[in-house]
Amino acid sequence: MIMIVMCKKLSALLLGALLASGLTSCGIGQSGDGKLDVVAGFYPMAYISEQIGENSIEVSNLTGPTTEPHDLEITPRQRTRIADADLAVFLKGFQPAFDAAIANHNKDRGFNAADIEPLLGGYVPVEESGGNPEGGHGKLHDDGQGKDPHIWLNPIRLANVVAALAKRLGQIDPSDALKFNRAAAQLRGKLQALDTEISDALHDCTSRTIVTSHNAFGYFAERYKLKQVAINGLSPEQEPSPERLAEVSRIAQANHVSTVFFENLVSPKLSETLAREIGAKTAKLDPLESKPGHGDYFSQMRANVQALRTALQCS
Ligand SMILES: [Zn+2]
Repeated sequence: MIMIVMCKKLSALLLGALLASGLTSCGIGQSGDGKLDVVAGFYPMAYISEQIGENSIEVSNLTGPTTEPHDLEITPRQRTRIADADLAVFLKGFQPAFDAAIANHNKDRGFNAADIEPLLGGYVPVEESGGNPEGGHGKLHDDGQGKDPHIWLNPIRLANVVAALAKRLGQIDPSDALKFNRAAAQLRGKLQALDTEISDALHDCTSRTIVTSHNAFGYFAERYKLKQVAINGLSPEQEPSPERLAEVSRIAQANHVSTVFFENLVSPKLSETLAREIGAKTAKLDPLESKPGHGDYFSQMRANVQALRTALQCS
């Protein structure tokens, strides 16, 4: 990285002279093109890095589009990439293997999104937390199930991460700091507009209860005053007990749920079984843990909102 930054500065001042003298070795950085090398653990972190960095940053997303990112395992090759990266963008608590690789191989060059937006406990709907239904739909709180990492599903929380990430990238490469800040301001504006759009779209709905595949939509539910009832835990691997399934079924029926949501990277079997049992339909709700098949973060968030508007009968 030092070489890259040096080269960028030199390019404005002395590169011509150095090239003439044959003394420069610019362009031999990790990416070989003078760009900052950023390694991201999963899609939303890779997406915001790309948006901030534009053509000044080379971003590698360690989680492929068909991999469930909670389960990411680090290969020796990826470990080398992490060790060589100018910055590793991660969300501590979401991908333990990535967290460990950064701690062991590149701990001074890690950007932890959870340092900016501290994680809250997993989402629990009012019925299960013993709270008063009139006091809200549920809450994110510590009940022993661990911290909820899915902060990117609240655009305002993601916007806060964007601002801090741009600042960090600007510290690594001051010559592009202004550019990073400008791109970040634009992205934050888009995220704030998306937040308003979602609030408006989900403001007036017949139902506010959503049954999701795993407990990923807590920050989303909290922000837009929905009540999330999750079949699986904070990770899709935390599968429900028969008692838990019966409880989800009971809450879904009591709240006249019309649709049980499934995800692209998790087997829809449990969602389909539950939907059959309570006479509901199924539909996809993407927690955006991996790159969507089409479009990007914004278009997929809007597709999610459309699916919710249909399921919750919003006007
Ligand atoms: Zn998840």
